[in-house]
Amino acid sequence: MKPLAALISLGCVKNLVDSETMVPQLVRSGYAMTEDPAEASIIVVNTCGFLQSAVEEAVQSILEAAKFRSAGSCECLVATGCVVQRYGKKLAELLPEVDLFLGTSHYHRLGDILAERQRGNGLRVWISTPRHLLGSDSPRIRATPPHTAYLKIAEGCNHSCSFCIIPHLRGRYRSRGISDLVAEAARLADEGVKEINLIDQDTTAYCTDQGGTARLVPLLDALEKVQGIEWIRLLYAYPDGVTDDLLDWMAQSRKTVPYLDVPIQHCSAGVLERMGRRTAEDPLSLIRRIRSKVPHISLRTSLMVGFPGETEEEFRELFEFLEVAQFDHAGVFAYSPEPGTAAARYSHPLESRIKEKRKRALLQRQRRISRRRLRRWVGKVLPVLVEGYHPETELLLGARLPTQAPEQDGMVLITRGTASPGELAMARITAAHDYDLEAELADPVIRPPGSAGSGLPGRELRPGKGTRKRFDR
Ligand code: SF4
Repeated sequence: MKPLAALISLGCVKNLVDSETMVPQLVRSGYAMTEDPAEASIIVVNTCGFLQSAVEEAVQSILEAAKFRSAGSCECLVATGCVVQRYGKKLAELLPEVDLFLGTSHYHRLGDILAERQRGNGLRVWISTPRHLLGSDSPRIRATPPHTAYLKIAEGCNHSCSFCIIPHLRGRYRSRGISDLVAEAARLADEGVKEINLIDQDTTAYCTDQGGTARLVPLLDALEKVQGIEWIRLLYAYPDGVTDDLLDWMAQSRKTVPYLDVPIQHCSAGVLERMGRRTAEDPLSLIRRIRSKVPHISLRTSLMVGFPGETEEEFRELFEFLEVAQFDHAGVFAYSPEPGTAAARYSHPLESRIKEKRKRALLQRQRRISRRRLRRWVGKVLPVLVEGYHPETELLLGARLPTQAPEQDGMVLITRGTASPGELAMARITAAHDYDLEAELADPVIRPPGSAGSGLPGRELRPGKGTRKRFDR
């Protein structure tokens, strides 16, 4: 019997990919994976340190795992990721139960460091300037369903948003090569992946670290040629980087789905200025330009309320902006001061009560907008990617439109018809809720013609034409 290892992955999908590269290292070190930390000889907690609430969750998770270390069932407790990069040395003093602390530059060295520990190396804290970049040769065991995967195209960030600690935790922006990413996409396709979701801190900056302009369109062009990949999705597009070239590409693409995640954070020029995110084009012009180039696109954004000095008038501006912008999906965050960032020193902080009230108001308004936006699909026959049983009931299948990103944008509940997980099928949309849709699969199940991306949502198509993850492998 092999000893067991548990890996708890907290935070965003970028962190998840890092976790996915640590699993094979544990397996190569002689462990079998388990979902249950109570039976694990080694527990790895991969932390997120973006916000203080995430830091608190990370410390709580480490403390829970530390109980097994103190009880003796766990022989080695490892904390990794952003919180370690941020507070590693302090944590090492506060948490004597933790055997190893690995910062964001040491994920790929987990196996080696465990071997060194076996040989008697007593170093507990492994932190250095983040420079590592994973490659297609980095083994990876995915936690996502077999048909969908995240493809991390770069690491780090060169922006200097005044509220954000990420550039300190992840280092300077560094892109992977196109051929390396194509090799990984081809390997994913061989494993049965049909949908790849491109991620990093700013996908539109791809290759800007290598001199010259961004090379996102050439990357998309190359990825589109990978046989077996049907949907390609862009996440985390910085507003300034959404060029006409990129939009023209999306408008004609067979596989790049009409979906864009553009975190604008705010619409008020004053707040954006203080955030260090003032761009040449104002947010409304950007949205109008995107929709004029790709009319059927679904847009997701992130918004931040309660930034220091945000006046009632600036908030009203954002509240009204939401109605005009008509985002399909929006996440809303209340600002929290992050030690080490410029904004943490700004004057006029807002009370939590006001921040929470503003957050609730935006979310309520967005819920109504999302529902209204979803209604436009009712009566249409559209391509869906079948996920398997719905997460909340085994009586229904769950699926997604090309305009719904995994784990964050709601689902299509299949009320009639059956298909296998990972299957691309055509479905008639029958109802819209706040975030989800209902649909019936075409009978018999009709596959989308050519690639599924060719069924641009919004057209009348006719039949015939996943915060916390555990690994258990
Ligand atoms: S773009 Fe701004 S918010 Fe996003 S990771 Fe970079 S610094 Fe942080």
